[in-house]
Amino acid sequence: MNHQGTIALISVHGDPSVEIGKEGAGGQNIYVRHVGDVLAGKGWKVDMFTRKVDPKQEDIVEHSPNCRTIRLQAGPLSFIGRSQLFEHLSDFVDSFLQFEHQTERLYPLIHTNYWLSGWVGLRLKERQPMRMVHTYHSLGSIKYQNVEDIPLIAEKRVQIERNCLENADRVVATSPHELEDMRSTLSEKGEVEIIPCGTKTETFGLVSREEARKRLDIPQDQKMIIYVGRFDPRKGLETLVRAVNRPEVRQHDFHLYIVGGSHSDQKDQAERDRIENLVHSLDIADYVTFTGQLDHSKLPTYYSASDVCVIPSHYEPFGLVAIEAMASGIPVVASAVGGLRFTVDPEETGLLAPARDDHAFSECIDRVLSQPDMRDRMGNAGKQSVHDNFSWDGVTDQLSDLYQRLLLDLHQEFVQLQSISQLNETHQRQKKQQLRTAKSA
Ligand code: UDP
Repeated sequence: MNHQGTIALISVHGDPSVEIGKEGAGGQNIYVRHVGDVLAGKGWKVDMFTRKVDPKQEDIVEHSPNCRTIRLQAGPLSFIGRSQLFEHLSDFVDSFLQFEHQTERLYPLIHTNYWLSGWVGLRLKERQPMRMVHTYHSLGSIKYQNVEDIPLIAEKRVQIERNCLENADRVVATSPHELEDMRSTLSEKGEVEIIPCGTKTETFGLVSREEARKRLDIPQDQKMIIYVGRFDPRKGLETLVRAVNRPEVRQHDFHLYIVGGSHSDQKDQAERDRIENLVHSLDIADYVTFTGQLDHSKLPTYYSASDVCVIPSHYEPFGLVAIEAMASGIPVVASAVGGLRFTVDPEETGLLAPARDDHAFSECIDRVLSQPDMRDRMGNAGKQSVHDNFSWDGVTDQLSDLYQRLLLDLHQEFVQLQSISQLNETHQRQKKQQLRTAKSA
């Protein structure tokens, strides 16, 4: 295998070595970890940097000979929510530089994830010659348009998002819609390439619905609706709960599985409490199961057992859950927002409904539950679409190509600088020679 180069993936708040599906793991952890693993398999040497949140955590976790997670100390060794992390970022920059110094290396290429890591990347770029790629994972500039309580950090976050777009060497948009959002809310400047997120196509869709239900002890004749994700108001779970309470869905013998949740994140817990209270107040607790957070390896069986996966987000930059469900061969009913408009092809691989519109969601869910032929046709088309467009293999080929182009560009700049400094030296020598000649004359 050819050695491709060395890269640092920076994910300050999402530890890529946390077992996927365990506490604190979301789309970003999964993205960074899979990008790291697959790139390492393609010959890159990948170091993934994150913040150490517990004194018991190892500083370095080796995932494979070419891929490891490096935990840096920045602030206290305890979990700190994203909205409180900014003040510890300069420590993260210092720890990164110290690590480079101690191990006598300079990373020529960094790929930063989320605005917090973007800020770190911009500071590092000021300090040493490197190329920086940035992925947002979520845009504050869009998110805050849909939020009532705008946090204090909002203004700073949007400014940093703008700086990343204008000053990173390349921004990766995961869908054309994310690119539109960046241009309309942040800046017209900056170079962007569209490279989607991917999924491990080979791990999903391996069991039949019947077999999956046997394994999970779910009745074969029940209609199973699944939601997978964090408890965050922007995920729109309230819309889904209200939708299943409407007559269009209640006419079916249905059960809703809500998969996900974190105990260490207070915001997550607060939203979970709110949704559980809503389920009780609507008197539908018998039709809803909260599974809690599930190990990622258990998810394929849940998806396969389901008739439909619902993603009612108010805003979704990409939405890994959509492609996981499609890879599992089930249709997706999703809000017509962000990346979901890119991944879900309406009437082909699923249905789109306006965000927050529980009536529209209940009609879409009813259509899928009432028509098993349509469900199966959409499921098969979804599987094909993920295979063609969103496999990690294809996605990391595109990233690899981008990194190589940027490294070549850095190399050329370096060669140019060297020849300029050589020219300067020659020029200086000639000047000194002229002076000497003039003096002796
Ligand atoms: N996930 C998981 N176990 C859970 C809940 C979620 O492994 O109990 C995974 C899910 O399969 C998906 C990711 O968490 O890969 C969520 O990513 P997505 O892009 O949909 O949302 P984000 O968390 O980035 O907002």
